[in-house]
Amino acid sequence: MPGELDLAFVLRLVPYRDADLVVTLLTQHHGLISLMARGARKSQKRFSGALDYLTLIRATFKKPRSGMGTLTAAESARSYEKIRGDLAGYHLAMHFFEVTRLATREGDDANEPFLLLGHLLTLLERGGDRTSALRIFHLKTISHLGYAPSELACASCGAGLHESEAHLHEGGLICPPCGAGSGAPLSKGAVNSIVRATALPYENFSSFKLSMQVEREIGPVVEAALIRALGAEPRSLEQLHEMLKA
Ligand SMILES: [Zn+2]
Repeated sequence: MPGELDLAFVLRLVPYRDADLVVTLLTQHHGLISLMARGARKSQKRFSGALDYLTLIRATFKKPRSGMGTLTAAESARSYEKIRGDLAGYHLAMHFFEVTRLATREGDDANEPFLLLGHLLTLLERGGDRTSALRIFHLKTISHLGYAPSELACASCGAGLHESEAHLHEGGLICPPCGAGSGAPLSKGAVNSIVRATALPYENFSSFKLSMQVEREIGPVVEAALIRALGAEPRSLEQLHEMLKA
């Protein structure tokens, strides 16, 4: 049996015993899977040196009904060399991988997160704006987890938010009366950027550019909303702040 074949991003590599690797992949059609790559630390031959972050791989694997499957072969379909050579871009990509892992369970349909990763890595590889890429990623992930910020209606009372100030809470955008007591609401411009990034088609990623002023306003609330939606704080977040400041 030759096994299953799929395109995948490597989200995590964990050494196992002397010679093996446990590889967590986000595949195009099989969702998130963890596989044992036997002998991968001793000889990369079988995996053509493709088992690395920032490589889109063609993976061949065997997946039993229960227990961990086996990665039998891997080859590089695309390598993101520019990101690999850029420390801030590299940390940003590692943050994408960690958050995607936290946001996805094995068995979930993960085609959307797979396409999102692919388009964001392409954007970074072409020198696109890192902070804008980060916020597109956060907002689309929040939306994928079921908390889509929308200006159509306040997530609490249902009042329309079009051209309005608002708060970003768990569950989405909240009108100022409903969010009373939780500090100053976000400006109309900030709300507009949040709504636009959430709904942005993949082909328009490169046209989305956050101003520094809007980023200062939305950065902390978007991250707080992401942490609530994930139910955990990604470990890569703090280091990422340091990298993006530099
Ligand atoms: Zn309301």
